[in-house]
Amino acid sequence: MQSLTNISEVKSLLSRHGFSFSKALGQNFLINPSVSPRMAKACGAGKNTGVLEIGPGIGVLTRELAALAYRVAAVEIDSRLLPVLNETLADFPNAKVIHGDVMKLDLQNIIAREFGGLKTVICANLPYYITSPVLMKLLESRLPAESITVMVQKEAADRICALPGTRECGAVTLAVWYYSIPKKLFSVSRGSFMPAPKVDSAVIKLDIRKSPPVEVRDEKAMFRLIRAAFAQRRKTLANSLTAAGLTREQTISLLDKAGIPRQSRAEQLTLEQFAILANQMPDV
Ligand code: SAM
Repeated sequence: MQSLTNISEVKSLLSRHGFSFSKALGQNFLINPSVSPRMAKACGAGKNTGVLEIGPGIGVLTRELAALAYRVAAVEIDSRLLPVLNETLADFPNAKVIHGDVMKLDLQNIIAREFGGLKTVICANLPYYITSPVLMKLLESRLPAESITVMVQKEAADRICALPGTRECGAVTLAVWYYSIPKKLFSVSRGSFMPAPKVDSAVIKLDIRKSPPVEVRDEKAMFRLIRAAFAQRRKTLANSLTAAGLTREQTISLLDKAGIPRQSRAEQLTLEQFAILANQMPDV
């Protein structure tokens, strides 16, 4: 079985298949031999686990997952990688590659079909160009998964794992905390990939909550407020929240009723405060 972390073996595999890297698809493959085993272990893959992987590339992480899990389903968009994966995963009959775009596929259906009632976890070295949309899709569709362990750019990891109400947080932070408890596991240097990206990365794990930490009458309304507040994060809430469809008078009365100073900015609010605003928001 060829090594997928030995640069010359990987180059020869790729050239045999006439493969060239696509920057647009975020193709930076892991070549540091210690990272995939560490991720596979950290995600909780075990004999009774189904693992959904996004973007297997040439299968370096897929192999490690398949060695630990009962079954792995890996979604890959690039059809040029299918024959490569066919070859590299030949010794892993419990790994199945599904050709498609993770943003378009019905993941609920894939998990039900591939894993039945098995405990499910998600593990991926995410294509960086769609980190937030993928995470939001995974979280919002309330997949029956226990956790999501992903490699993302270091900056994204810091933002995602920041505490709501602190400077580093963004709209994605609030959404992540609503659905899960995130933590940063370890950093990965840019030299661990082929080709090397311009920035370092980090592996984070989101433990999915069984129920949200705050009670919200209308989740959509809360996320509309959060998005409006962070879209113009330098503005005061009295100005930025109007983008959620409220008039300035409605915004000011909402902030006053919730006991939130009109001059506050998005990054100063906790999830509880956004929930209070959403629960008192007039229908728009
Ligand atoms: N897992 C491999 C590794 O660690 O070496 C490859 C990771 S690479 C950062 C991202 C992978 O995601 C690539 O194989 C790319 O083709 C795939 N990909 C990009 N966009 C995708 C999408 N929308 N749906 C599914 N896979 C996608």
